[in-house]
Amino acid sequence: MTTVDPTREPEEESAVETARGQLERAAAHLDVDQGTIERLRQSTAVYRVAVPLERDDGTTEVYTAYRAHHDDVRGPYKGGLRYHPGVTQEECVGLAMWMTWKCALMDIPFGGGKGGVVVDPKELSRGEKERLTRRLAQELRPVIGPMKDIPAPDMGTDPQTMAWFMDAYSMQEGETCPGVVTGKPPVIGGSYGREEAPGLSVGIITEQALAYYDTDLEGTTVAVQGFGSVGANAARYLDDAGATVVAVSDVDGAIFDPDGLDTNDVEDHDETPGMVSGYDAPQSLSNEELLTLDVDVLIPAAIGNVLTATNAHEVQADLIVEGANGPTTSTADRIFEERGIPVIPDILANAGGVTVSYFEWLQDINRRAWSLERVYDELETEMLSAWEDMRTEYDSRDVTWRDAAYIVALRRVAEAHGARGLWP
Ligand code: NAD
Repeated sequence: MTTVDPTREPEEESAVETARGQLERAAAHLDVDQGTIERLRQSTAVYRVAVPLERDDGTTEVYTAYRAHHDDVRGPYKGGLRYHPGVTQEECVGLAMWMTWKCALMDIPFGGGKGGVVVDPKELSRGEKERLTRRLAQELRPVIGPMKDIPAPDMGTDPQTMAWFMDAYSMQEGETCPGVVTGKPPVIGGSYGREEAPGLSVGIITEQALAYYDTDLEGTTVAVQGFGSVGANAARYLDDAGATVVAVSDVDGAIFDPDGLDTNDVEDHDETPGMVSGYDAPQSLSNEELLTLDVDVLIPAAIGNVLTATNAHEVQADLIVEGANGPTTSTADRIFEERGIPVIPDILANAGGVTVSYFEWLQDINRRAWSLERVYDELETEMLSAWEDMRTEYDSRDVTWRDAAYIVALRRVAEAHGARGLWP
């Protein structure tokens, strides 16, 4: 086995480079036609639009937006729409590729898409954000739609953004089209349980992974980086199920209690931003210290690229479950593989989000709302089924959990390409 070069700066690798590397690793285990691999290395299309906005002071500003369509062989493109100053075309393509694999692994009939506007939403008033969103919906209208491409909230966007987007699209279509976006408020066709879903799926998958390694959840120690939508829901799920959540964090720092925190008492990012590090706990830590705590399970659930060549050798957890998208760089991944620390990949662990988005789309096109209980039941069924598919692959080959997940996903996408063929 080759030893990882710790001097390689993993942050140099872009999302699309990482995504292509993962595709090639999975392809090496499957007999997939080279032409199909080449198609999957590329995006079907990337749209770049200029979005003019009349600011509150009467001036006009023009923002750049992208929408990447990676692959739709299994169904409409699906993926988030972010408002962030760091959005790039390359990033959208890489994130769209991840969505293709995530949807295929979950066996839901969507392909991969992603998009965003290069803008700092904190610099916009509510009215400006609404006008920008409506104009964006109009600019993207030719390439999106309930059967074409279905955006969802992401960094800097939320259910209200989706409501404006859906309204603008519907006005132009001349009919109410709730299925054009997911992550809407329930009053206009959003699904109950969508907000909690990615955190719940992280919890469900952590339980499965612990059972696989014959570890009792009761008393298992857990550290969670990021106490927002994903992190807080995952931490509370595991806490309620009997785990001992010893540390959680937000952007300002971490809190630590070796006897276990009461995660239902700590306010999350949405309830009150900044409350985590201000909580009265026995010990405060930095985010970096949280990542290297001696715990049974580490759940990075804040941002990408936090487990890197710099800290991967210091991580003491026995199991890592990825709550955030892309928290482990490729170099760190190789280090964990060498050290024998299993990493359960994001495309499975946090896939509860896109799964309940799929449920939302089903409810919208059928015009029939599901109860919260039904959403939770069906989510659990889908997560356990995808876990079993990944586990079967893991047990039958000498691969990492991530490779096993990508093999399942790539096989499904490649088989669909084989069945449909190349037109003309
Ligand atoms: P969020 O904004 O609700 O919460 C993020 C949390 O991370 C907050 O507690 C914040 O203080 C903390 N944080 C921010 N920057 C940090 C930093 N530099 N260091 C440490 N902590 C930091 O976000 P979220 O929706 O929970 O998303 C978290 C991750 O999960 C992201 O990678 C996101 O792409 C991914 N994800 C989210 C969803 C979803 O539907 N919410 C679905 C799948 C994946």
